[in-house]
Amino acid sequence: MASTIFQKIIDREIPAEIVYEDDRCLAFRDVQPQAPTHVLLIPKKPIASIDQLADEDAELLGHLWLTIRRLAKELGLANGYRVVVNCGEDGGQTVDHLHFHLLGGRALSWPPG
Ligand code: 5GP
Repeated sequence: MASTIFQKIIDREIPAEIVYEDDRCLAFRDVQPQAPTHVLLIPKKPIASIDQLADEDAELLGHLWLTIRRLAKELGLANGYRVVVNCGEDGGQTVDHLHFHLLGGRALSWPPG
């Protein structure tokens, strides 16, 4: 897999406002926030998208979801939030490294465009 902008953030080759890190994942603020809180959570393992997940990634996925719950608490999203994972062209994915958008801090409309 070619090195993506998110891999460069993991490798500290480009800066980002990091809000959480452990041995398996990294969370940082989106450079173009769509809500008062807009954080991206990524696995350090270079998985391109949901489509590239392997059965062995099940535990990692559980860790990512529990990290989202933790981040939502730490970032004060007590009134609710949304988690979005875009996949592929029609899904609107622009960076080929699996990422979870954590959005909150305002009422979010539905359905998305
Ligand atoms: P996607 O459209 O693939 O679901 O989401 C990619 C997200 O990455 C977008 O919300 C975009 O604003 C964000 N993004 C793209 N490049 C950078 C960057 O260099 N730094 C940060 N922090 N976010 C980025």
